Amino acid sequence: MSTLEIKDLYVSIVTEQGSKQILKGVSLTINTGETHAIMGPNGSGKSTLASTIAGHPRYTVDSGSITLDGEDVLAMSVDERARAGLFLAMQYPVEVPGVTMTNFLRTAKTALDGKAPSLRHWTKDVKQAMSQLRIDADFAQRNVNEGFSGGEKKRVEILQLELFRPRFAILDETDSGLDVDALKVVSEGVNREHAKGEMGTLLITHYTRILRYIKPDFVHVFVDGRIAEEGGPELADRLEEEGYDRFAAATPAVE
Ligand code: ADP
Ligand code: MG
Ligand code: MG
Repeated sequence: MSTLEIKDLYVSIVTEQGSKQILKGVSLTINTGETHAIMGPNGSGKSTLASTIAGHPRYTVDSGSITLDGEDVLAMSVDERARAGLFLAMQYPVEVPGVTMTNFLRTAKTALDGKAPSLRHWTKDVKQAMSQLRIDADFAQRNVNEGFSGGEKKRVEILQLELFRPRFAILDETDSGLDVDALKVVSEGVNREHAKGEMGTLLITHYTRILRYIKPDFVHVFVDGRIAEEGGPELADRLEEEGYDRFAAATPAVE
């Protein structure tokens, strides 16, 4: 079992108005085999948390720690974090002009594992994963995310998840903009990987809808840069009924 531990994390960004604190003391422990949902309103800092774990240079860690089995994640480069088994499915996946999906997937897999995958198995794995995610075979020769629809980009994020097999997957609003059919397909992909028992998942979402397909073990309500409440799956049901207002009211608007 592996453990990703976030302790009392404070993160800020530099804007034109100066430095702005976004995360204000986040603590969270995820073990492989567990699914944690982070639910919160827009602007509460969910993507900031995801990007900070992945090592986006835009975000400055003011204090606190992130460790993976005791190793200091914050001291690792973005590449080292990926090789250590951290995977981020971005809220807004980026287009990579001039790089085909096939080349990208194989190059990334080789970099992650430190050796090239056996060609015969790899080709079969890619084909199978694409077909299960209902990604047309033509996409293999297209440039990464270039001209893909929102839903296609999200499927491709989960394609990477299934092929790269991370220890910890952070899924940042993978559900947003998906119709019900796409949501099911994407959720099935996550669940297939989860069923192997070797992955911890941090599922970031604004809506409870995806939790019908991906069952969280723990739910954390995220408001104004910190976790305002924690519980089991029943907490998501309460959010569905009550929304986030109750939590927002409990949080001071001005520090
Ligand atoms: P969420 O994902 O919960 O919607 P974000 O982490 O995207 O929240 O944003 C949290 C806050 O930080 C928001 O007020 C947002 O405007 C601000 N923020 C985040 N990233 C940037 C950025 N790159 N530049 C300016 N403001 C940012
Ligand atoms: Mg947002
Ligand atoms: Mg976000």
